[in-house]
Formats: sequence, C-alpha cells, structure tokens
Amino acid sequence: MALRLAGLAKLSQVGVRLQSTAAAPTTKLFINGQFVESKTKSWVDLHNPATNEVITRVPNSTQDEMQAAVDAAKEAYKTWSKTSILTRQQVMFKYQDIIRKNMKELAESVTVEQGKTLVDAEGDVLRGLQVVEHCCSITSLQLGESLNGIARDMDTHSYRTPLGVTAGIAPFNFPAMIPLWMYPTAIVCGNTFVMKPSERVPGACMMLVQMLKDAGCPDGVVNVIHGTHDSVNFICDNPDIKAISFVGSDQAGKYIYERGSKNGKRVQSNMGAKNHGVVMPDANKENTLNQLSGAAFGAAGQRCMALSTAVFVGEANNWLPELVERAKKLKVNAGHVPGTDIGPVISPQAKQRINGLIQSGVDEGAKLILDGRNLVVPGYEKGNFVGPTILTGVTPKMKCYTEEIFGPVLVCLSVDTLDEAINLINSNPYGNGTAIFTTNGATARKFTQEIDVGQVGVNVPIPVPLPMFSFTGSRGSFLGDCHFYGKMGINFYTDVKTVTQLWRESDVTHTQAAVAMPV
Ligand code: NAD
Repeated sequence: MALRLAGLAKLSQVGVRLQSTAAAPTTKLFINGQFVESKTKSWVDLHNPATNEVITRVPNSTQDEMQAAVDAAKEAYKTWSKTSILTRQQVMFKYQDIIRKNMKELAESVTVEQGKTLVDAEGDVLRGLQVVEHCCSITSLQLGESLNGIARDMDTHSYRTPLGVTAGIAPFNFPAMIPLWMYPTAIVCGNTFVMKPSERVPGACMMLVQMLKDAGCPDGVVNVIHGTHDSVNFICDNPDIKAISFVGSDQAGKYIYERGSKNGKRVQSNMGAKNHGVVMPDANKENTLNQLSGAAFGAAGQRCMALSTAVFVGEANNWLPELVERAKKLKVNAGHVPGTDIGPVISPQAKQRINGLIQSGVDEGAKLILDGRNLVVPGYEKGNFVGPTILTGVTPKMKCYTEEIFGPVLVCLSVDTLDEAINLINSNPYGNGTAIFTTNGATARKFTQEIDVGQVGVNVPIPVPLPMFSFTGSRGSFLGDCHFYGKMGINFYTDVKTVTQLWRESDVTHTQAAVAMPV
C-alpha cells in the first residue's frame, strides 16, 4: 500500500507493513534524516492485536545508534535554533497540510498496530494534527515582553529561547497523537528532538517523521530511536538531552521523572487515571447514557481520559438496565471491519490483566451485570477481544476501583448526594479528568468549583482541551509543572532570557563606583 502523496515513502520503506508475513519486516530507526536498519541483536515482535500475527520487528536500539541520534540532534541544533521563526513556521504550515492529506493512511497504520477502529484512529491523527496547526501560530506564541524606561534611559525585554536537544517517550494508546503532542511544539520553538515511540506501535510515528522531512524540516532536527528500558535509561541519563516529555503508566512515569530530574533535566510526566462520571438524576437520560457508554467502552477503554468509573447519584441508579442495553449494542470486531465500535485490546497480557481485574471485582462482592469476557470474534479467534463489561455495587476499597483497568470495563458506584460524589472523586489519588451530567446550572457550577481534578466536563464525557489550552491532568496523573501543548507546552520547551539595557547619550562623570543596590 502506498501513501497517496508523491514524494512520501511507501509504508514498507519506513518500516511499516499492514499485512502479516512469515518473515516480518523490521521497523527502521530515523537518524539524521535517514531511515536506518538497526544493527541490534535484540528485537521486539509487534503483533496485530486483532490476529496476533507478527507484523514488524522493532529494534532495541544499540547504545551507538542512540548516541548517533543525539549527536545528529546536537549538530542540527546549531543551525535550527538560529533559523528564523518564520522559516520554522513555514515548516509547520506545510506539515499540517501533508498530515491532513494522509490521515487515512496514518489511521490504517494505527488500526493495524494498535487495534482501534479506523474512525477512532482518524480521531487519533486529528487530535495530533490540531497541535501542529496550533504550532503554526508560533510567531504570536513566542512573542516576548518589553518595558521601556524601567529607569532613566534603561529598558528591559524578555524573550523565550530554546533549550537544546529534547526528547519524548510515548505510550501505546495514541500512536499518532502523543508523538504529535511532543516534537512539533519542541522544534517550532527551535529545539531539536529524539523521539522514542512505544515499541508496541511505532508505525504512525515513522510515517509522521517522513512527512516532516517532506515538509522541509532539516535532517537531524527530529530523530527516532526504538526500544524499551535501555532506551528510556539512555534518554534519562544522556547529558546532552535537556528536557523529557513522557506519557504512559504511573510506574514508568514516576521512574522517568525521578531519574531525569536527578540528572538535572526538565521533565513533564503524564500518567495513569481513574476518571469518574457523575450522573445526576436531573440529567438528560438518553444523552447521558450514550455519552457514558461511548466514553467508557470507546477505544476498548484504552484512553487515559476514558470515563471508566460512573457515580450514580440517587435515582439515577435506576438507569443501569438501560445502560446495559446500550452497551450490548456495541459491535466488537477487528478495527478495520466497517461498523466496528470496539476493537481488540493491545495484547494477550492486557486482556488477561483486564479479565483478572473483572474477576477481582466479582470476588470482592461487586455485581457483574454485563460480562465481556470469553468473547470470540468469528474470523479473529486469536484476537485480544474483551466486550463491554459493567460492574455495579463497587466500593472504593475494591481492586477494580483502586487500579486503572485500561479496558472496556465500567465500574459503577452509587451515592445519595452530589457532596458524596465530590468527596469520593477528591479522595481518589488521580486527577486526570472527570465529568458531570446534569441539567442544573447550579449543580454544574458547584461541581466545577469543588472538584479537585485538572480537566472537568459538564455534559462532556471526555473533556480533553484543544491545543489553544493545555492538557491539564493533575494530582496523581501528572508530575512536573508545565503541561503538554498550548502555552504551557511552549513554556516547557523554552527558557526565558531577560535583557536590561542602558543607553545614555550624556557621559557619566562620576569617579566613584556605586555599590548600593540600585533603587
Ligand atoms: P507504559 O508506561 O507501559 O509505556 C510508556 C513508555 O514507557 C513506552 O515508550 C515504554 O517503552 C516505556 N516504559 C514502559 N515501562 C517502563 C518502565 N518500567 N521503565 C521505563 N520505561 C518504561 O504505558 P503504556 O502501557 O504504553 O500506556 C498506557 C498508560 O499510559 C496508561 O496508564 C494510561 O493512562 C497512560 N496514558 C496517560 C495519558 C495522559 O495524558 N495522562 C495519555 C495516554 C496514556
């Protein structure tokens, strides 16, 4: 399968194959503008989650290859950081156009490697593309400040400077969007970049860097290495890397934040979640049940903003049977099959873990009112499928509540009042996202004011902010102080330099130096 745009490499050239073969092709590294075969002896087999056939082999990059990527980024920084901001902006204009024209091909790669449906995969690409579009405003976003006449004949101005070589480490669940949360913002500010996509879904990222090259971005500005723990440690320890953007699980996020910070790097770390949706009895029932099932089961529950926990207040609890009927209607199948609502989960291990957490709920006294385990999809018998699952009567001490399930499982709790719902959510360690469904403005306002969660939706189940804002997950879901994309993303990838100048025409005739602090 070839990309539509002339000048872009075929998928196989960038190391992506959409069909399984006995001898799976390898995924290449991208160093100094070239797709390079790794010399490693250690490979990760990448399986199509719908079939479990091996579709590509991903290298654990060698130390030399990773160093070559950093060296290329360091060299490119010398010229890229001095390239005019208008030139960097032009690259982003071209880049957004190329991505938009190739969304379908990117989505196909996402579906085959990650499993999500084609429609959902296009959304994955679109949400990343919106960050690139926002980067086109860099001439406004990177404007500095100035104040004339701060003292006699003295002016001060401040402006944002790039950091140097920066790096990104991405998770499996958004193969296009999350790399695009990282390097476009970094490079448009004048940095260069070393990207490590998830070893489970590198294909979309490889296509995206080919497109970046085609948009005129010079060699070495963005480089891609692959791997697991060794590549992560390399990024955390390499003295030339000044900042790390991480998105993924708690375990990896805390580790990378600590190790990178200890080495003097700036780190932003987006981690796990347990997002609660509060259902008030005055909510619009049809809309709420649709939103709830879409947000809980869409993408097979593998979104960090999935609404995985429903809190029914008072009589809203009576809507559960209708929720089950809606969830039953969702079609589970391979992501590329038209009409599919829910694709497979990423791996057999993920499926086993999800099934284990469902069982733990049952063992601890929850009621399983919809069981998606043991689902077999005809034609895809070896796929990692889990159907929509609903547990009710869940309490905060149960393992299915305390752990992020990251599968198509909705855990349901019941409370009597809005205050109880707010207390419950504020007692949960995570702060990624939450939502309330209500038709009462005062209820909505009370919720938004009192809830201690970084991203709040009112009748919006997955309130992921667009890039003119930033992704503001909080508490246990985030480590660092500058969030991803938007103004905070620009702040993360830049330092502020403040220049104070004195230009006085008349000569100073004092013969004594002033030693007191100027006032
Ligand atoms: P993951 O932590 O397993 O992997 C993320 C990256 O870290 C990968 O590149 C991987 O190679 C590396 N890695 C994995 N384990 C590591 C370890 N022990 N030490 C060092 N590096 C390690 O995450 P995942 O399973 O790919 O993604 C799912 C998780 O990501 C979920 O917890 C989800 O909530 C979270 N996530 C969060 C956000 C957010 O913005 N808060 C967005 C998407 C996903």
